Amino acid sequence: MNTADQSFVKIHNQKIILNNIIHHYPVSRAKLSQMTKLNKATISSQTASLIEKKLVTEIGTGSSSGGRKPVMLVFNKDAGYAIGVDIGVTYMLTMLTDLEGNMIYSDYIELEDNSFEAVEPILLERIELVSKKAPLSPYGIIGIGVGIHGFVNREEMVIFTPNSKWKDVNLKKILEERFRCPVLIDNEANTGAYGEKLFGAIRQCKNSVYVSLGIGIGLGIVVNDELYRGTEGFSGEMGHMTIDFNGKQCGCGNQGCWELYASEKAFYQNLSHLKNIEKVTLEQASKWIQENDGDALKALKEFGYYVGVGLTNIINTFNPEAIVIRSNLIESNPIVLNWIQSTISSRISRYVHQSHQIYISQLNRNATALGAASLIIQHFLMDSKYINAN
Ligand SMILES: [Zn+2]
Repeated sequence: MNTADQSFVKIHNQKIILNNIIHHYPVSRAKLSQMTKLNKATISSQTASLIEKKLVTEIGTGSSSGGRKPVMLVFNKDAGYAIGVDIGVTYMLTMLTDLEGNMIYSDYIELEDNSFEAVEPILLERIELVSKKAPLSPYGIIGIGVGIHGFVNREEMVIFTPNSKWKDVNLKKILEERFRCPVLIDNEANTGAYGEKLFGAIRQCKNSVYVSLGIGIGLGIVVNDELYRGTEGFSGEMGHMTIDFNGKQCGCGNQGCWELYASEKAFYQNLSHLKNIEKVTLEQASKWIQENDGDALKALKEFGYYVGVGLTNIINTFNPEAIVIRSNLIESNPIVLNWIQSTISSRISRYVHQSHQIYISQLNRNATALGAASLIIQHFLMDSKYINAN
């Protein structure tokens, strides 16, 4: 084997060892050797390297059946901190996490003006503020992950945000130059799906679909445990699939798009029309629903029907193990799941119907920011220069 091959094997082994420590700590070297099928000399040299890099520490003693108790290896989740940002249409959520994705601090702010010119200074300021909350650590801030509503291409350029009209924004470059750390930009539904896959409702599922229902609708598609992004990175824009071909005109240029009927925005428009008032909030709508108000239940039932129609198309397309829905409205009013389910049941083939589950998001409002932070953690631990052959 030449030197390049040898160093490739060392890096590969070290990743395997680190990954096993992360998922099984506290763990002994002997157990690691058993789990990874790597010999003791390799385990010993590579764990020494990980300890030197401060990504792994040794602690006390583990249980042993007689004899000397083994020293246990622990993942040093505080070796650095990640920042995850969710840029929504009307809000920004900025979060600090440790290397295990545990939330250390979070900052939520409503956006009055969502144009890029208005959002950029707020974004820089919030990241600055949140990064100052990080405790001292060997690596400091390891990177920034951002989930944004809209089209993000493979080069991580924000091509277009239909609900706030950003066009060709190189947010990655702006943040890298300002904060001098790795930056990852992705669509909010992709990062949300990643969050739910790592920490939430679809941890056990290989093939699943994450549906983010807000002002628009976006999908994060997980195939064989990985995000499916499509050729250019634009997969999952199913908010713009046609469910009524002579229907309402959409901002995307199409007619009768799903999100014109099944987004939260559509629900609030419908309810404010029924109530003949200008604006309805989540709190007000939830209060009416709990009081069995006729208008609110009518609007909710209609919303559930349209959500169910679109989900039927999604189930027929992907045949997923599970669908996880992220929506403040649905999480606050889970009664709507009955109407969603009954719409799906009445429309889908009974052969397909047995094979999927519908869940509500477990990470709720944190899904996108947490997923974005996790993407950058994954990059730091598994793809970056910190894992090297030494
Ligand atoms: Zn559309």
